[in-house]
Amino acid sequence: MAVKDDLRTPIVCVMGHVDHGKTSLLDNIRGSAVVSGEAGAITQHIGATEVPIGSIVEKCGNPGLLDQFVVPGLLFIDTPGHHAFTTLRSRGGALADLAVVIVDINEGFKPQTIESLHILKQHKTPFVVVANKIDKIHGWNPQKDSPFMASYNKQSEHVRTSLDNKFYEVIGELYNHGFSSDRYDRVADFQHNIGVIPISAITGEGIPDLLMVLLGLAQRFLESNLHYDATGPGVGTVLEVKEERGLGTTVDLILYDGTLKKGDTIVVGSLDEPIQTKVRAVLKPRVLSEINVEDKFKQVSKVTAAIGVKISAPNLDGALSGGSVRVATPETLETVVEEVRSEVEDVQIDTDQSGIAIKADTIGSLEALVNELKKEDIPIRKADVGDISNRDIVEVSAIEDPFHSVIVGFNVNILPDAKEKLQSTNVKLFMNDVIYRLIDDYKDWVKEQRALSE
Ligand code: GDP
Repeated sequence: MAVKDDLRTPIVCVMGHVDHGKTSLLDNIRGSAVVSGEAGAITQHIGATEVPIGSIVEKCGNPGLLDQFVVPGLLFIDTPGHHAFTTLRSRGGALADLAVVIVDINEGFKPQTIESLHILKQHKTPFVVVANKIDKIHGWNPQKDSPFMASYNKQSEHVRTSLDNKFYEVIGELYNHGFSSDRYDRVADFQHNIGVIPISAITGEGIPDLLMVLLGLAQRFLESNLHYDATGPGVGTVLEVKEERGLGTTVDLILYDGTLKKGDTIVVGSLDEPIQTKVRAVLKPRVLSEINVEDKFKQVSKVTAAIGVKISAPNLDGALSGGSVRVATPETLETVVEEVRSEVEDVQIDTDQSGIAIKADTIGSLEALVNELKKEDIPIRKADVGDISNRDIVEVSAIEDPFHSVIVGFNVNILPDAKEKLQSTNVKLFMNDVIYRLIDDYKDWVKEQRALSE
C-alpha cells in the first residue's frame, strides 16, 4: 500500500471548552509539521496546517509504518475559537471530516465540551476525545513526545492510579451524554465506541497515538468521502476575511475539492450578491527557513485540495466567513452564481410571520442555531449574520407579542448605538457563545414570563 493520488487529505477540527488546550495541541501538532524539511516552520497563520504523512510516522517513531497509509496526511483547522466546526460548512454539511474533542482531565466536562459532542453527533462526524493535561497529575514524570503507554508505564503506581481515576471520570461523563467509550487501545470498533486518548499538549505525551488513531479513523471510515478529482474546479470554504498590507482584502480558505489557480474566475458567498472576481494570487505562508524574505507569503501558481491557502483578488470586501469559494468557467458561471446565492439565502430567514429574531457571527453558526431552534419548535421571524444593530432593535421593538420581541445573538456583539437604543425599548436580548445555553436561557425566560402572567 502507498499514498493514493485520488484521495485528498482528511480535514480535522479540534473542539472543546475554552482553556482546555486547543491552541496548545495545535501548536504542538504544527511543530510536528516542522519536522519535515518540506513544510518548514510556518510563520504565518492561515487557519489550517497540513501535517504530511511522513512527519506523522516520524513523530510516532516508526517510519516503517509509512506503507500502511493511503491518505497523504492530515489537515488541521487551526482557526481560533471553538466554533470553527459550525462555521465551516461544505456542500455536504460540515467541512471537517474528523474531529478531536479536547477535555482537561483535571476539570472534566464543561458547557462547550458538551456542545461539541452534540454538534458532532448531529453531523455524524467520526471523532475521538483527548483527555488533556495529564502532566498536571500530581507526581507525573513527563516523557517528552512519548506514546502514551510508554509514558504511563514509567509512572509510579500511585500516579497511574490517579490518572486511571480521572480518566474513568471522563469515560463516565461520556456515558452520561450517551456515548460509550474506552481507552483508544482497547476500542475495537471506533464507530460505536469513542476512543479516548490521554495526552499532554505541553509535553507531547500521547500525541503520536492521537495522530495514529486519526489516520486509522480516516482510512477506516472516510475513504469513500476522500476520493476527489484533482483536475476538477476548485471548491472551498472561507475561513476568514483579512486585510493584508500591500494586498488589500484577502480571503483565507480551505479548498476541499479540485484545483484553484491564479487567474481563475471565482464566485464567493456574500450577504449581498455573490462576488465574481479573478484570483490575482494564490498565497502560502512563508516558512522559517525563508524568514529573511520580506514578503510574508509566497505565490504559487495552483493548489489542489485539501489545503488551506490565502487568495488575493479584487472586490473581496463582502466575502462571508463560512461561505463558498467556487471556481467557474464561462459555461458554468451562471449556475455557480445561482448555487452560491442560494447557499446563503437558504440559511437566512426573513418572514412576516411571528417569531424571534436571531443573529450569528457566520453563516455556518447561523445555520447551526436555526437548526437547533427548529428542533425546539421555536418560531423564527428573521435570521441573519452580523452584530446586533440599531435597526435590529427598532424592528424587534415594533413586535407586539412579548415572547417574540426577542433577539437571540450567537457569538455576536451589540453595537454601541444599539445598546443605547435597547434601554428605551422592551426588547429582550439573549447573547451567548454556547448554542444550547442560549436556547435554555430563552426557554427559561418564556416559562418565567408565562408563570408571571398566569
Ligand atoms: P484553548 O483555550 O482551548 O485554546 O486552551 P490553550 O491551549 O490556550 O490552553 C490554556 C492554558 O492551559 C494555557 O496556559 C496552556 O499553557 C495550558 N495547557 C494546555 N495544555 C496543557 C497541558 O497539556 N499541560 C499543562 N500543564 N498545561 C496545558
